Amino acid sequence: MKPLSKTIENLKPSGIRKFFDLASTMDNVISFGVGEPDFDTPWHICENAVYSMSEGKTHYTANRGLLELRKLIAEFHRIRYDQHYNPENEILVTVGGSEAIDLAMRAMINPGDEVITMDPNYVAYTPAIEMAGGIPVIIPLEEKSEFKLTPEALKNAITDKTKAILINFPSNPTGGVMTYEDYEKLVPIIEESGIYVVSDEIYAELTFDGEFASLAQFPSIRDQIVVINGFSKAFAMTGWRLGYVMSNPNLSAAMTKIHQYIIMSAPTPAQYAALEAMTDGLSDVSHMRNEYMNRRNLLVSRLNRMGLKTNMPHGTFYVFPNISQTGLTSEEFCNRLVEEQRVACVPGTAFGEKGEGFMRMSYACSMDNIIEGCDRIEAFLASLEQKQEENPSNRS
Ligand code: PMP
Repeated sequence: MKPLSKTIENLKPSGIRKFFDLASTMDNVISFGVGEPDFDTPWHICENAVYSMSEGKTHYTANRGLLELRKLIAEFHRIRYDQHYNPENEILVTVGGSEAIDLAMRAMINPGDEVITMDPNYVAYTPAIEMAGGIPVIIPLEEKSEFKLTPEALKNAITDKTKAILINFPSNPTGGVMTYEDYEKLVPIIEESGIYVVSDEIYAELTFDGEFASLAQFPSIRDQIVVINGFSKAFAMTGWRLGYVMSNPNLSAAMTKIHQYIIMSAPTPAQYAALEAMTDGLSDVSHMRNEYMNRRNLLVSRLNRMGLKTNMPHGTFYVFPNISQTGLTSEEFCNRLVEEQRVACVPGTAFGEKGEGFMRMSYACSMDNIIEGCDRIEAFLASLEQKQEENPSNRS
């Protein structure tokens, strides 16, 4: 048989999947692993999709998506985030934020172009860069700077070959966010270098303390910014597969060209559901955000109390506790935790080498699970300590 694509063969399988294949073989597991809301999509949103189908709205839409929906998206971003995009030629509705990431990479990368991204980062970024023929350049993020992107690190990573930087705040996996003041310091560097910034803002609505900030709010670099967002996280709509990408008209036309050939148009019932979400779904979002915030507060305080140092994340539904003082690697810690106590968390290394010494816990699960899960983690830590006391030479 002829060989398959080398690029695809060389892609590493996701560390998350590998771990969950193991956890799924066990009973009575408390999972902090899921990367999606535990809430179901609010029913009035589903109902609008059902209604649209009963009205015969079962055909393709415009390639860019329903104009009515793009108008609502433009309005939403103008009012909530001070981001200004023209629904006619600057917004494209996609199959989740996932397609939008792929389109942005494919539309801008020539073979050998460098794209900067971060470590730890969302698992799909490096593959998306590589599949488009780009070379990933990694900026390590530090716990001591709350996993933010600093101007020094950005400046050092940019070369003549840099085409873009791919960022994600609030961040999966760290929960880190960038404030307006943090971004302000990056603006001159971005402006001078002329690079694109692909800003994955899928967790924007799940920002807890203070307002969400974005590089697209700075007019001098506005045309260099590509904003990716979607309905999955904010409206608990992961299965509907609906997102969007906003950028300058030239880039938007290039992405639409790819989208037109590979997708045609995003699923029509999902677009009708999204119309309802944008019209009447914001109170649901605020309800879910409050619930996540309560869970975050409980989880972070329990983890710190049991001795796992955990930054207070300002967004998403993830925490990123530091487990390094146990002397175990992230993978050993998570493997033993699931085997000995039936608690599933994702090793930090699934998100890059800098994730060593950490694990990602999603609190998109019930309060009861958080309490029971924390009790079990505490028992696990106590058993580690006991083993170390019995055999001090194990301490590494
Ligand atoms: N970006 C980030 C940072 C994510 O965490 C996810 C989902 N886990 C996505 C993009 C993709 O989301 P979707 O395709 O469901 O919109």
